[in-house]
Amino acid sequence: MIEEIVEEIKLKLERNGIEVEAFEIESRLRLLMDDYGVSADEAKRSVANYFMKDIQDNKRDKTSELVRIKDIKQENQWVTIKGKVLTLWESRHEAISQIGLIGDEGGVIKFTKWKSSNLPDLDIDKVYTIENAVTDVWQGRYNIKLNRNTTIIEMDEDLEVMSEIVSYRGIFVKIHDGSGVIYRCVKCNRSVVDGECQEHGFVETKPDLRIKSVMDDGRSVQDVLIRREMTEKLVGADLNQILSEDIDVLHRVEDVLIGRYFVAEGREVGRYLLVDGLEPIKEVPYDEVEQLIYEAEGV
Ligand SMILES: [Zn+2]
Repeated sequence: MIEEIVEEIKLKLERNGIEVEAFEIESRLRLLMDDYGVSADEAKRSVANYFMKDIQDNKRDKTSELVRIKDIKQENQWVTIKGKVLTLWESRHEAISQIGLIGDEGGVIKFTKWKSSNLPDLDIDKVYTIENAVTDVWQGRYNIKLNRNTTIIEMDEDLEVMSEIVSYRGIFVKIHDGSGVIYRCVKCNRSVVDGECQEHGFVETKPDLRIKSVMDDGRSVQDVLIRREMTEKLVGADLNQILSEDIDVLHRVEDVLIGRYFVAEGREVGRYLLVDGLEPIKEVPYDEVEQLIYEAEGV
């Protein structure tokens, strides 16, 4: 039965001067019908429209505009995004070569790379500019398709990807190694140890500030990462001043954080909460603080 529908679509497209391989039509049909339970009639119309639109758009002279992922709010748009590959799922369809999640500073989106696109494979944790992907929507969530018109450019940089904003209440119990003034590789922005980047060897570096810490709410612990701007506020000096006056960052930060109760707000990246907001809480019942400090000392 599916072969008949494929043939029907193929003929319809040919009448419109569009030539598409039968397997490409079939893989899209199967995806809609088998996976998503779309009716045969609906799938037929959808697949035919897809290829008509694909070709029409292809005739336009274009390299689509670079957009932020969170600004993708329409389907069937050509977009260029820059993002970091966060997840790759196993593809169960032979027509799909890769499927996963890619994110930028403002959002995360699902991508599907068709085998027929002949595009190179994307690697997890690498940053790419993806030119001319097509937006699509499924159950209210947008995704992008990488097809024959898409170009993938691997970028030599890192990105901090955004996730949901969360908050955590608790006391600061520990500052980890690797906190204070650090030095980053100018090529990839990773922190370097003794002037050596894991990726680029001995490189030119630039100073930065960060605090890796642990908060405890009495029931759980949360790793938190405080970046430069917030660290400068806690220290009461900016990075230049810290470097020129050789200020003991860890000592000052410990003084203001350790054993004190805060609400930290930010985004989860891996196991870290990337802190964008930090508010001390004063009105905590004495008992609760005592209990927390007591438990924290046992950490
Ligand atoms: Zn590097």
